Amino acid sequence: MSEEQSLLPEVGEPPVPSYALREHNLKYLPELRVGEELFTYRFAASCSVNSCSARCCRDGVLVDIAHRDRILSEAALVVRYMEPTQDHNPENWFDSEVEIDADFPSGRVVNTNSNPETCVFLDSKRRCVLHMAEVESPGLKPFFCRAYPIAIDHARVTIDADWCPQETNCCGPVEGGEQSVLDVCGGELSFLLGEAGFREVQRISNDPNRSEN
Ligand code: SF4
Repeated sequence: MSEEQSLLPEVGEPPVPSYALREHNLKYLPELRVGEELFTYRFAASCSVNSCSARCCRDGVLVDIAHRDRILSEAALVVRYMEPTQDHNPENWFDSEVEIDADFPSGRVVNTNSNPETCVFLDSKRRCVLHMAEVESPGLKPFFCRAYPIAIDHARVTIDADWCPQETNCCGPVEGGEQSVLDVCGGELSFLLGEAGFREVQRISNDPNRSEN
């Protein structure tokens, strides 16, 4: 995803193990697994996703086409939260190209558009207008923005540690850090998988004999 340094193995290295998840909310992904990287990446003691600078928004985000349609149907609301300098024309908010991606409920996705700086929905104070508009329309923020830096890649729950590796006060991992992914991203995992799914991830994390199944 990024040209910046990755902590994941290089191509050609042995694959990182993963484990089956059964008690999650994402029923459209019956073969969902969780990657070992969720149990090995470490973060600094001061790290908190509340310190996010929205650097992760620089290229926008993929959204299910059903969610794109919801945002467009609520365009008047979204515009009310935009600044005058933001693009108020909904026709410019999403890329026209639809891609196939089985990690999304409908299997069809589009990217939000971005200006040279960042996603069209980020204002000059680095606030997401979809996030702000949730006061009036809960759930309007895209699913994978809410879950970030937790992501799903080919039915594997993983962490997108490559996108902002220098943001070590937020979600950039450090070697030997005091906090785990579950410490830092427990809220995001619960959002993604539901409470039962998060508890299953905790059980796998605490199992010293976990093995692929
Ligand atoms: S929709 Fe909001 S949170 Fe998601 S990339 Fe755009 S500005 Fe960032």
